[in-house]
Amino acid sequence: MRDPLDILKETFGFTAFRGVQSDVVDRVMRGEDTLTVMPTGAGKSLCYQLPAVALDGTTIVISPLIALMEDQVRSASANGIAAAALTSATQDRQAVERALLSGELDLLYVAPERATTERFGRMLEDARISLVAIDEAHCVSEWGHDFRPDYRLLRPLIDHLQAPRLALTATADRRTRADILQQLGIPVDGLIVAGFDRPNIRYHVVPRSGLPTQLKRLAKAQPGPGIVYCPSRAKTEKIAADLREMGRPAAAYHAGMEPHLRSGNQEAFVRSEDMVLAATIAFGMGIDKPDVRFVAHAATPKSIEAYYQETGRAGRDGEPAEAWLFWGAEDFARARQRIETEVEPERRAGERERLNALAAFVEAATCRRAILLRYFGEDPPETCGNCDNCLDPPKTIDVTVVAQKVLSAAFRTEMRFGVGYLKQVLAGDDNEKVRMNGHHQVSVFGIMDAEELALVQPVARALIARDALRADAYGGLSFGPGAKPILKGEQELVIAVPPKRTSRRRKAAED
Ligand code: ADP
Ligand code: ZN
Repeated sequence: MRDPLDILKETFGFTAFRGVQSDVVDRVMRGEDTLTVMPTGAGKSLCYQLPAVALDGTTIVISPLIALMEDQVRSASANGIAAAALTSATQDRQAVERALLSGELDLLYVAPERATTERFGRMLEDARISLVAIDEAHCVSEWGHDFRPDYRLLRPLIDHLQAPRLALTATADRRTRADILQQLGIPVDGLIVAGFDRPNIRYHVVPRSGLPTQLKRLAKAQPGPGIVYCPSRAKTEKIAADLREMGRPAAAYHAGMEPHLRSGNQEAFVRSEDMVLAATIAFGMGIDKPDVRFVAHAATPKSIEAYYQETGRAGRDGEPAEAWLFWGAEDFARARQRIETEVEPERRAGERERLNALAAFVEAATCRRAILLRYFGEDPPETCGNCDNCLDPPKTIDVTVVAQKVLSAAFRTEMRFGVGYLKQVLAGDDNEKVRMNGHHQVSVFGIMDAEELALVQPVARALIARDALRADAYGGLSFGPGAKPILKGEQELVIAVPPKRTSRRRKAAED
């Protein structure tokens, strides 16, 4: 058998393995079952492509996305590897099957729904299989963020094949990882995790407050290509227009655009040295632009994993880069509502937990990097020196009493009003609406002084983020499971002292 290092040089043109690649390849070559968790861009494909070349027989790669499979086949073929894919888009399926059966293929990519058919299983019995690689392996876990039932059906197939298995994923918290090991029958000592730290990325997390101004300020301070992830298609167009108005080259990118416009914008961005792309999360997969200098989020991402993945597109060249997250309580309110209404009941607990982890991250007064790395199972130092909280440690303030008053106000006003109204009641604002509702007579009317009133917004934001308050479709706030412990004084609420407030007018101009 050829030396892996020779193959690395001759077939792939690389001088050395990167990070844990050599550990993974060694295990695979010894025939041991393995799960590797490596961040995007760390070089997962090589971990099975190299053994595919080195070992006799064909490596089967289970992969969920046709577009990615085709990319992979193209790049493997360019390296002189015999690779093919069996998908609904495959032109000459019979030729691929013949090549498999005659042992000509090093690599065969197949989607899980095809891999689990009886026909495919029978065909593999007549082929020589050297390795089964399961890409995007988090799809096998209900704890993962992208569960795909077809992945669950793979087990009989891979148990039946007498070949080592290699599961790969970029995103898996501890629980998902344990689940993948179990679901795919990989021993616990078969887990190899790469370092997730991206030391050149500086993390900043700030509450949204006059977003257009916040983004313009960022675009002014930050040269180089940048991506702004937006929560909607309309927002991408609006933000791109805002930035162009201030003289910064900017374009939008979303799935609803004319394909030629969209790819035109993408190409312009990839070539550009100073352009900002305002995009939905549809943008980024498979884009190779190493010099992105900043990634901003105009709204809260879906999870810590999504945040890590999206910010990870900044600074791939290793030069300093920035990540800015502009979050709002309404992002969390919306996400929580989505979980309760759109997610299948058995997956809600996992989704809630992921959202809570994200809320803890955005609200934290401690090192952002440490929180991210701990989430991915690492044991990082307490401080990194390259995030907002390390560079400028926020003062914290115990707002338990303010929180209790806000919660009481929600309760005394029948839990159907938004934070603006609660503030009027707490301030003792004897206006017509308050009077008409009879809320000038409730016990919490006028119980806050100016200092406390200034904290109502940030406290409400914190309460919503931790699910102590829930917003309905009209913005009315009612109790969530986190409310009682705070009201009873069993749980404190400590937040970072909020930055200086922006003016009323600027707030109104938001969106
Ligand atoms: P992932 O699937 O983990 O996101 P890829 O497999 O697409 O990552 O690899 C990311 C990039 O790193 C590719 O351009 C690949 O050619 C490159 N790469 C992978 N391994 C090495 C290595 N050992 N040395 C240099 N470059 C590598
Ligand atoms: Zn830090």
